[in-house]
Amino acid sequence: MNKKVIYPGSFDPITKGHLDIIKRTSMLFDELIIGVFVNYSKKSWFSTNERVELIKKVLESEGITNAKIVEFSGLLVDYINKKDIDILVRGLRAVSDYEYELQVNLTNMALTNKKFETLFLTASREYLYLSSSIVKEVAINGGNLLEFVPKIIIEDVIKKAESIKDGR
Ligand code: ADP
Repeated sequence: MNKKVIYPGSFDPITKGHLDIIKRTSMLFDELIIGVFVNYSKKSWFSTNERVELIKKVLESEGITNAKIVEFSGLLVDYINKKDIDILVRGLRAVSDYEYELQVNLTNMALTNKKFETLFLTASREYLYLSSSIVKEVAINGGNLLEFVPKIIIEDVIKKAESIKDGR
């Protein structure tokens, strides 16, 4: 049976860790929805549109054709309900991720009667430590981003870091 699968996140910006989860999920299922969370807080570096464009660039350069990108706001479970999604994919890095994800997952279950399963993929060893926050920290301090974000978007991240430093 064709399952509807979503991998949601902030992707501010997409990292090699995210890409790893996307690749692995896209091999497990026929189709994958990448859900970009529209967050209204000013904390994110990239606008929703920019985050979507960066993911698009990465998917194209990686030749991943069975993933589509959507934006969503509000509660994830509401989106899952509305779109009749079967499987929610999350990546797990450290113990702290586990505690957070367990809490979110149990809350999600309490919020809806919709039957869906959450699939946790453990981070690959080389990306265990990697997060969008680390990427931003390295970028703002002019570090080499090659290990952390897909090559195709490095320039975009550097540009954004510069504009943030300039207070633009
Ligand atoms: P959120 O704001 O939902 O945490 P993120 O963009 O930070 O969004 O992460 C989206 C998902 O990707 C989460 O499930 C997170 O645990 C997972 N993830 C993030 N970085 C990595 C990584 N390096 N390896 C594996 N999974 C990751």
